[in-house]
Order: sequence, then C-alpha cells, then structure tokens
Amino acid sequence: MKVGIVGAGASGLMLAGLLKKKGFDVYVFDKNEKCGKKLYITGKGRCNLTNYCSPDEFLKNVVRGEKFLRSAIYNFPPSECVKFFNDLGLETKVERGNRVFPKSDKSSDVIKTLFKFCEGVKFKFCEDVKSITFNGDFCLRTKVKEYHFDKVVIATGGASYSSTGSDGSGYKLAKSFGHSVEEIRSALCPIKLKDDVSSLQGVSLKNVAINADADKKKIHFFGEMMFTDIGITGPIVLSLSSLINRALNVQISLDLKPALDEKTLDARLLRDFDENKNKNFLFILKGLMPQALCKFFAKKCEIFVDKKVHDITKEERLKVVKTLKNLPLSYNGLYPLETGIVTSGGVKTAEINPKTFESKLQNGLYFVGEVLDLDALTGGFNLQIAFATSYMCALNM
Ligand SMILES: Cc1cc2nc3c(=O)[nH]c(=O)nc-3n(C[C@H](O)[C@H](O)[C@H](O)COP(=O)(O)OP(=O)(O)OC[C@H]3O[C@@H](n4cnc5c(N)ncnc54)[C@H](O)[C@@H]3O)c2cc1C
Repeated sequence: MKVGIVGAGASGLMLAGLLKKKGFDVYVFDKNEKCGKKLYITGKGRCNLTNYCSPDEFLKNVVRGEKFLRSAIYNFPPSECVKFFNDLGLETKVERGNRVFPKSDKSSDVIKTLFKFCEGVKFKFCEDVKSITFNGDFCLRTKVKEYHFDKVVIATGGASYSSTGSDGSGYKLAKSFGHSVEEIRSALCPIKLKDDVSSLQGVSLKNVAINADADKKKIHFFGEMMFTDIGITGPIVLSLSSLINRALNVQISLDLKPALDEKTLDARLLRDFDENKNKNFLFILKGLMPQALCKFFAKKCEIFVDKKVHDITKEERLKVVKTLKNLPLSYNGLYPLETGIVTSGGVKTAEINPKTFESKLQNGLYFVGEVLDLDALTGGFNLQIAFATSYMCALNM
C-alpha cells in the first residue's frame, strides 16, 4: 500500500512514522527544504507539545470541533502522547498549567525525535503539491513530477505564519474533491483597539481579568496581558480572540482588581484619599496600577490627573471604583490571520469520519491536523490535536 502525505509538520510526521511501522510505503511532501518549520517556533522555541490533563479536561479547551475530536482524544490522550515521546527517548517535563515541554527546552529535539521515528519514509522536500486528482488511484502533482498513490493524506496545516509553509493551500486541495471549507479566521491572536494605546505599548498587567460580551455571550479570562501599539496581547487576550472571532458585536473591559469587590475597593480608596488629601489624583492611581496606565485610566474616569484629592467628589470616587472593575476598551477587530497562532475554520468536519479521518466524499483521501475545522486554546492543545488525529488515522487506515 503506497501512501502520499502532504505536509511534514506535526501531524504529517507523526502519521508518516506510524504508517511506516505498519508496513506502508510512505512518501511525505513538503514545500520547505526541511520538516517541522512551524514546530520549530512553537512554545517560543521550546515546543509545548501537549497538555497533561484528562481527555474531559482537554475537550473543555477545544474551541471548535470538540464533539468531532472526542474519539481521537480518548484513543490518544495527552498521557499517551507523553508516553509516545518518552518511549522514543525524548524526556519531557510538566510546567505550570499542565504544559508539557521537552526537558531540553528545545523544539528542535521534538522535530529530531519525530524525524528519527520516520526512518524509512521517503521525504520529498521542496515539492509544493499543486494538485491531487483521483482516477483509479491518486495522482499527486508537484512542480517536479507526478506521483501515484493508493491513499493520500492532507496534513497541510492552517493559514497563519505562512513563512513556515502553512499557507492555506490544503483548503484548495480539499475543495478540488468537493469538500466545503468553513470560513477561516484568526485565532489565538492579538486584538486591535480603537482607543489610542500607543503610549501604553509594552505595559504588562498581571492578575487582571478580561471580560467580554460577544453577541450576548459572556466570556471571562484571568491572568496576564500586555498592550501593543494598537491593541492588546498576552495569554488572556489570545484566548479571548479565539472565542470572539466570529462575533459581530463585541464589548471588552478589564477588571484591574479582580480579587476585590466594589465595596472593598471603595473602602481602600476612601482610606487612600483620607491619607493623601493634598496630593493629586495621579498619586492615588500610581498605588493602584502601573504608572504608564494612569493617564489612560484617568481619561476613562473623566478626572484630571492633577486634580487635588480633596476636590474629588463622591460620585467621581465611585466612578473610579467602577472603572477599576470595568475599564472599557473599544474593540476594533482582531489582528490579521497571519498573526494567529492557530487558524479557526478549515475543512468541514461533518464531511470527515472522526474514527478514521477519511473523507466521506472520496475513499482513500484523509485529512489530519490543523487543516481541519478544529482549534483549541493555548497550552499544548493544538499540537495534541495534530498528534491525536494522526494517531487515529494511522490506527484505522
Ligand atoms: C508561533 C506559534 C507558536 C505555537 N506554539 C504552540 C505550542 O507551543 N503548542 C501547541 O500545541 N501549538 C502551538 N502552535 C500551533 C501548532 O504549531 C499547530 O497547531 C500545529 O503545528 C499544526 O500541525 P499541522 O501538522 O496540522 O500543520 P503544520 O505544522 O503547520 O505543518 C503543515 C506542513 O505542510 C506543509 N505544506 C502546506 N501546504 C503544502 C503543499 N501544498 N505542498 C507541500 N507541503 C505543504 C507546510 O510547509 C508545513 O510544513 C503554535 C503556532 C505558532 C504559529
């Protein structure tokens, strides 16, 4: 049985090695000169390869495709994924939030491990797959030549960070077999704001909460974020982006003091005001937030930073309390698709068998990894999706 896999990324490599071990004659095509270019930049070069949690917990972190993924994640849960890599000699460690990394902190070690696992696989690098047709067998065309296969797997990834090779060309290949592609959107990307935040660029906030109302759906994340020149980024912002990327109406606000309720905050402000009657408002704000944020915050409260504390009215004080709990940010859309850590949307999962990952429209044609309409939050979930879909595909092919 001769199988052609398009894409030598996380999913393509895993699948190639597994199929080779099953005795298939495996070819892997990649437009790049080497494998795993996106894998190399994952986890800031450390590769957060999975999240060490139960399948149920895992599925709670899936944004699109939770039901479809159920069987793959139960068959190849994160614990199996860790075991798989450990058995191949890659030592791993678990960090905060169950994030699994190679002990060496080097994504290149994950790539090396997978490449070694692919011993005997025929790699065709610098071969961009332009078209695939079926006429008794699959004919796969690259600029270099034509190849024939019994089965073909599309493992071309999403459409962001296109310099890594994942430029969305897999969607075209899917469409040529009549597959529908769910409209793609940026996910796990920064958010643009209408507010002028250029002076806040680089200011980072810890232990804050971001609250959003997206088409009436309430969303809440707690953690860290940062301002960019035109918006916001950081872990809680990236997570939020994945949940609002299809919403038409989005309102965002920050809770700068999530641990305190309004009553407690007001009591603290009263105390601060009492002890610093002759200071200005800016002095009070400096005790509540990073200095760089004070002017922006004061503007939102409509109180001048140089106003004397003893001149601040009760209504104004209560407005400060409300704004600390609910600092409105004016949403101006997401950063472009290219900046997304993952792509939301892709080949519609309703047209794919969730146990085999075979197309329901064309026998012998398979899809694995991010090319499918599947995405999850940060924490190693997206690579686990790539590995688990490939595992199931290999198991049942
Ligand atoms: C900056 C960044 C950091 C990330 N960090 C993490 C992390 O720490 N943990 C995590 O879980 N996820 C992370 N991700 C997401 C994760 O990398 C992807 O979800 C995962 O790589 C998807 O695997 P894949 O095999 O489906 O696609 P990819 O890994 O993108 O591989 C697809 C391959 O197909 C090739 N290809 C595409 N089209 C063709 C064609 N027509 N012909 C030939 N070859 C083709 C490409 O060159 C590419 O090598 C990160 C993503 C980015 C961008």
